[in-house]
Amino acid sequence: MGTRRLPAVVAATFVVAAVVVTACSPSNGATLSSLSARPTTVTDSLTAGAAGIGDPDFPYDGNGGYDVAHYELTLAYDPAANRLSGTAVVSAKTTQDLTQFNLDLHGMTVSRVTVDGQNARFSRDADELTVFAQLQNARPFEVAVAYAGEPEPVRGSPNLGTYGFARSKDGVFVAAEPDGAKTWFPANDHPADKAAYDFTITVPSGLTAIANGELVGDPVQGDGTVTYHWRERHPMASYLATMTSGRFEVKTGASPGGIPVYAAVDPQFSDALDKLYSLSGQITDYWSEVFGPYPFSSTGGIIDDFAAGYALETQTKPEYGGFDPDEAIIAHELAHQWFGDSLSIKRWKDLWLNEGFATYAEWLWGEHTGGRTAAQAFQSAYSSASDAIWNYPPGIAQRNDLFNGSVYTRGGMALHELRATIGDTTFFALIKKWTHDHRYGNVTTDEFIALAEKMSGKDLTDLFGKWLFQKGRPSII
Ligand SMILES: [Zn+2]
Repeated sequence: MGTRRLPAVVAATFVVAAVVVTACSPSNGATLSSLSARPTTVTDSLTAGAAGIGDPDFPYDGNGGYDVAHYELTLAYDPAANRLSGTAVVSAKTTQDLTQFNLDLHGMTVSRVTVDGQNARFSRDADELTVFAQLQNARPFEVAVAYAGEPEPVRGSPNLGTYGFARSKDGVFVAAEPDGAKTWFPANDHPADKAAYDFTITVPSGLTAIANGELVGDPVQGDGTVTYHWRERHPMASYLATMTSGRFEVKTGASPGGIPVYAAVDPQFSDALDKLYSLSGQITDYWSEVFGPYPFSSTGGIIDDFAAGYALETQTKPEYGGFDPDEAIIAHELAHQWFGDSLSIKRWKDLWLNEGFATYAEWLWGEHTGGRTAAQAFQSAYSSASDAIWNYPPGIAQRNDLFNGSVYTRGGMALHELRATIGDTTFFALIKKWTHDHRYGNVTTDEFIALAEKMSGKDLTDLFGKWLFQKGRPSII
């Protein structure tokens, strides 16, 4: 995720959002406390899939007992009524014997659930949908959920703003970090369980529905409707899935390096279409040289009219919520295609592996295009960083302040200091090996540190300790 402004003012932007949000809507904290107080329906704890995937900071995000391979979402959205309806078919494999398991789903009315084609009993409790079925360990299964309703975005957790399924003037803007996939489909809603996706989305004629990956066939015209089929065949974290829809001007083609490009802008941002299209292609090509081969089958971007005030690294098509992005933001979101999307974190506390790298990428892009060097950007960030950043160790992102400026800026500074310590050759070889070894997988900070130490032959405990894990302003090399 990135903001439209420079990292130095990230914290201030979020403070404003937090005040508005706290004043007008219930917080996630309330949801959590009601969840933790809820009566358990577990009859045999050995065979009930856990209600969370095991991230201590987000105890009810994701679920235990199974691993999803594929989501097939067949959905219709009527923006005028804000009504979403359809079916999600989740193909998964058990990781334990199960008598019941959960999916995450916020609101909406579930009309039917089947497991391998057989009707299954289910219950709802807060954002947990519990499905009762007898399944042995290591067994592939398919759960289909038919549902409908008026989706609502998540509002209210401090500094996260509004995310998930958010109505725009002419449709919907879907940007779901960290756990807003559940606002529009039943999901194992945590980046630790990645899956491939097919999206078949029907919207009123004249609108365009945009999801991840590539279009499968041409849009199909119906009676006053049009249906788009998108496929993302590479593993994707649930928060990166989208179905942003509305009136869009679209430009397609390929980058100079041959990667297919799909750029779309709300008509309000017509003037930005050519720039979004060409920069997205050029930057994706450049990062492919610096970070290693592009992990996906297409690139691009979406500028919508919804004034989110942030951008999200939506897989294959970053989304810019209500603003014309500058080069730094586009470079940031496209760097995330490697750091966050191809390599996804296992736990949210490791978020600097996404945001620190994407921030450092902004500095690298500036240097590449003849602006400030990365060293100058580091010096500027170092000398202007606030006490709030020095007091927040970015290697341990905090649940209630996940997108703190430290996770971005100090995370980027940590990488620059690593580069200064191990030298350019080793640093850039490390980055390429990191993206190669963990392509499409999940990663931890410990794994990155171990690889950096192995490739440099240096003990980097002190360096990472002072830049990632300790409070205070480190002295610089
Ligand atoms: Zn970001």
